[in-house]
Amino acid sequence: MKELLNIDEIFMKEALREARRARDLGEVPVGAVVVMNGQVVVRGCNSMLTSRDPSAHAEMVVIRKTALLTGNYRLNGATLYITLEPCLMCSGAIVLSRVDRVVYGAREPKTGAHESAFQVLSNHRNNHMPDVTGGILAEECAAILSDFFRKRRAEKKARKRAEREAAADPAIPDS
Ligand SMILES: [Zn+2]
Repeated sequence: MKELLNIDEIFMKEALREARRARDLGEVPVGAVVVMNGQVVVRGCNSMLTSRDPSAHAEMVVIRKTALLTGNYRLNGATLYITLEPCLMCSGAIVLSRVDRVVYGAREPKTGAHESAFQVLSNHRNNHMPDVTGGILAEECAAILSDFFRKRRAEKKARKRAEREAAADPAIPDS
């Protein structure tokens, strides 16, 4: 029998859909959605390459869109679903925008700013502390990232091999 998904898993599936969209655009596959009053109001994914913007992490994209949509730079009443533990920048934006609740999927051991590299979201010095739940559909959220990086490494290797072969076997010049 198929296990029923709880509400956080249902919305994380929506964020995962965005992560797959990022992957199809050639971006690192991280996706996010914002839920207000029990509904997805905004969707977004990593778009640093496509928008040539180093700050265009999925969380920043959806926080900006939600503020525009609601006409309010404060996101009270919003729950942010992200497939990956937020970084320092995004955690800062989450605190500043007063998102009520943050739900993420996989841990980010190198740069995560909740339970991994830094503890920003739970820092008592902040004037706002969101509720945070991590580990929702974590395996699925991590798998899309590891698949992406595995493929990228394989492509890089193949490219290098082709370059080496081309250098070792130069085309015969026209006489
Ligand atoms: Zn970030």
